[in-house]
Amino acid sequence: MIAEVIVDVAAHPIDRPFDYAIPKNVEVLAEPGMRVKVPFGNRKVLGFITKIKETSEFDPKRLKPIHELMDVVPVLNEELLKMAQWMKEQTVCFEIDALQVMVPAALRAKYEKRFVLNAALDEIAAPLRPYFEKRSFIRLQDAVDVYSLLKQEMEKGNILADTDIQQQTAVKKVRMIHIADSTEKLESIDIRANAKQQLKLMEYFLENAGRSIESSQLQKEANVSLPTIYSLVEKGAAQISNMESYRDPKLLTAIEQKSSLKLTGAQQLAFDSIESALNTPKTFLLHGITGSGKTEIYLQTIDQVLKQGKEAIMLVPEISLTPQMTIRFKERFGDQVAVLHSGLSAGEKYDEWRKIQRAEVKVVVGARSAIFAPFQNLGLIILDEEHESSYKQDDSPRYHARDMAIWRSEYHNCPVILGSATPSLESYARAQKGVYELLVLEKRAKDQPLPDVHIVDMREELRTGNRSMFSVQLADAIRDRLEKKQQTVLFLNKRGYSSFVLCRDCGTVMQCPNCDISLTYHRSSETMKCHYCGYDERVPKTCPECESEHIRFFGTGTQKVEEELAKLVPEARVLRMDVDTTRNKGAHEKILSAFGEGKADILLGTQMIAKGLDFPNITLVGVLSADTTLHLPDFRAAEKTYQLLTQVSGRAGRDILPGMVFVQSYTPEHYAITLAKDQLYEPFYEQEMAMRRASGYPPYYYVVNIQFTHEDLMTVAEYADQTVRYLKSHLSPNTLIIGPSASLIARVNNRYRYQCLIKYKKEPKLTDTMQQLIKIHRTEWLKKGATLSIDMNPTSVM
Ligand code: ADP
Ligand code: ZN
Ligand code: ZN
Repeated sequence: MIAEVIVDVAAHPIDRPFDYAIPKNVEVLAEPGMRVKVPFGNRKVLGFITKIKETSEFDPKRLKPIHELMDVVPVLNEELLKMAQWMKEQTVCFEIDALQVMVPAALRAKYEKRFVLNAALDEIAAPLRPYFEKRSFIRLQDAVDVYSLLKQEMEKGNILADTDIQQQTAVKKVRMIHIADSTEKLESIDIRANAKQQLKLMEYFLENAGRSIESSQLQKEANVSLPTIYSLVEKGAAQISNMESYRDPKLLTAIEQKSSLKLTGAQQLAFDSIESALNTPKTFLLHGITGSGKTEIYLQTIDQVLKQGKEAIMLVPEISLTPQMTIRFKERFGDQVAVLHSGLSAGEKYDEWRKIQRAEVKVVVGARSAIFAPFQNLGLIILDEEHESSYKQDDSPRYHARDMAIWRSEYHNCPVILGSATPSLESYARAQKGVYELLVLEKRAKDQPLPDVHIVDMREELRTGNRSMFSVQLADAIRDRLEKKQQTVLFLNKRGYSSFVLCRDCGTVMQCPNCDISLTYHRSSETMKCHYCGYDERVPKTCPECESEHIRFFGTGTQKVEEELAKLVPEARVLRMDVDTTRNKGAHEKILSAFGEGKADILLGTQMIAKGLDFPNITLVGVLSADTTLHLPDFRAAEKTYQLLTQVSGRAGRDILPGMVFVQSYTPEHYAITLAKDQLYEPFYEQEMAMRRASGYPPYYYVVNIQFTHEDLMTVAEYADQTVRYLKSHLSPNTLIIGPSASLIARVNNRYRYQCLIKYKKEPKLTDTMQQLIKIHRTEWLKKGATLSIDMNPTSVM
C-alpha cells in the first residue's frame, strides 16, 4: 500500500503530497489523518497521511517507506482533511500549516503515543501479554511488531490508544462534597441528639440533596466545621472527591440547571426562522443591539439541535469567554458542554478536545480555533460578535473563522448564525443582498432603555481651561456614583496611544533600537519597553542626545489615568485591567469577579473591558478619548470606532438601574461617534459604505495585503518592487495594485518592512498568481533571508 503524505518542508517550491510506501507491519494501523515521520532528502520530517491507495504513478520499488507512525488513531477526520485543502487555496497557505492548525497544540508537541491495557492480562491475545507484564502500557514505537494484534484488541476495547501529556501547569484541586441525592437515605442516618453541629448540617443536606458543593463553600453556607462534614461523610450522607479547579471556582459550586426563558415576540420570530432551516446550509445574520437577547436565542436553537441528536459549535471572541458566559451554557447544557479557552493548559485543552472527538460532549464553546472541533454530526455553528477581528488568525494560515464555519455548514447541511450588535460591513452588505438572511432584534429583552449617551467636546474643555483628562461633566458623574455607591467603568482606548518618554529640552523621543517605534514607559518597573520586539531598558537619567536631565513621561496609559483618578477621587477604590495587570493566568477573571462582588468602585481598562461585563450596579461608563482608533491609517478605523463605542456603552444600565455614558472626543462631529450615540447602525452603515465605495475598499473591492521583510532595506525594496511589476503584468487590467511602500511601522526587530495592496472586484487569475509568488519566494528569496506574507481579505492594512 501507498500513502500520500503532506510533508513539513518549508523550502520546497511545490506544495503537494508525496508518495511513500507503507511498511507491511504498519499497514493495519495506517489511516488518513494520522501523522507520520518520513524521510525527505537526508532528513526525517513530519507529515500527514492524506490518502491511502493501491498504486503509485512512481516506480513502487523506488518509493521510500514511512519511517514511523506518530498516531494510533487519526487526529484529523476526512472532513477536516478536505477542509485543509480548501483552506490552502482560500488563504494561500501551505497545506501542512492548514493541517497543523486543526490539531490541538498539545498534540503538536512531542508527546508519547502509547497503547494502554484496558482489560485483565489474560484476556488479551497471548503474544501480547509479555509486553504488558511490567507496565500497563507500551509505547507506540516499541510495538511495531505487534500492530495488527493491538489493532484487534483495540477493536474489542481491551486496549486503548492514549497520549501521555504531562500537565505542565500544576492543576489545582478542590475538595468537592457530593450530597446523597436520596432524602430517604439521608433521613435513615442516625445522629445523636446532642450532636448539634451534625444535625445542623444534616438539615442543610436534606434541603440540598443531590447537590455538589465545594467544601469551603459548604462550611460557609451551612456554618459548620470541616470535621463535622467528615463525620457525615463517614456515615454515608455524602461523598468527597477532589476535582480539578477551573479558573473560576464558582463554576464548581454545582451550577443549577436553568430552563429556557419565554422568548419575546422579536426573539420568537428570529428563533422560528432558524428552527425551520435547521437542516439547511443557510447563513443568518442576527443583528441585535446589546442586551437584546441574542444569547438566549443561541441557547434555545442549540437546544433544538441537541434534541435532533446533533452537535453545535459556539464561537465567541477570546475576551468574552468569561465565566459569566460559560456559566450560562453550563446552566443550560450541563456536562454536555466543553469549553476551550486560552486559560487552559495544553493538557487540559487536549482533554476537552478528546471529549469532543469521542462525542462525550455535544456543545463546544470556544474561541477561534474551536471551529475545528472534530464533531461528526454538526447541527449548528454560531459566531457571536461576528465583527470581531480576533476571528481572523494573524499568521499563517490566515483563515477567518466565519469562512470556515460556512464551509462546514455546507458539508454538514446545517445553518450558521452570525450574531452582532454592530455587524461587519461585509456581513451586513451580504445580508442586504440576500446572501445571508437578516434577523433583527431592535429592543432590549428586558425592555430597559438604551443608556443615555453624552458626547463631550474636549476642545471646549481645553478652551475653558480644563487640562485634565476628565471633563467637568464626567468628573461630576464619577463623584455622584461614588456617593450613591454605584459602579463606574472607565475605558481608555489605548491603541495608537502609548506612554512615551520625551526629553523636554531637545524633543527626543526614546526609540527602540530595533524597531521604528517609540518605547513605552512602564512605571512599575521604571523601564521602557518595545511592544513589538520585547526590547527593554531602564529609563535614562539624562537625555542620550543632549544630556539634559529634563526627561518626561508622556501619554495617557492606564497607569497615568490611575494616578489622575487618585487625585480626582482619592477615596475611590480602583481596579485596573490592562495587559500589565492581566498577564497571569486567571488574572482577568479575578479582576472581573472582584468588581462584580463590589470590591471596587471604578474599573479602569483598555478594550479588554469592552465586552462581557454584565453587572447590574454599573450605571456610569466614561470613554476617555474616542478619537484614538478613529485616526488610525486604516480603512476600518471608523467601523472599529463605531463598534467599540457601541460595545462600551452597552456595559451601562444592563439591569434595573438606568445607565449613563460620557464619550469624550476631540472630533465629536464625526459620524462614527454621533451615530454610535444612539446605536443608529443603519445610517452608519450607509455612510460608511459611501466612504468605502469612494475609496475602493471592502465590501466594494476585495483586498489582498502582501508584506515583505528583510534585514537590508535595499533588498526588501527591490523584492517589493519586482513583485509589484510581476503582479501588474499577470493580473487583469481592472485590478488595482497600490504600492510598494514602506509599512506604517517600517522596521521591526531590525527587519525592514514593505507592503503592497491588491484591490480587485473579479480576478480569475488571483489564486494562480499568488501560488506563483510563493514559488518565486521559495526558489529565489527565501535563501536570501527575505520573508513574504500574503493576507487575503485582511482585517486591517496597517
Ligand atoms: P445579548 O446576547 O443580545 O447581549 P442576552 O441574551 O445576554 O442579550 O440578554 C440580555 C439580558 O436579557 C440577559 O440578562 C437575559 O437573561 C435577558 N433575557 C434575554 N431574553 C429574555 C427573555 N425572553 N425574557 C426575559 N429575559 C430575557
Ligand atoms: Zn534631549
Ligand atoms: Zn523593538
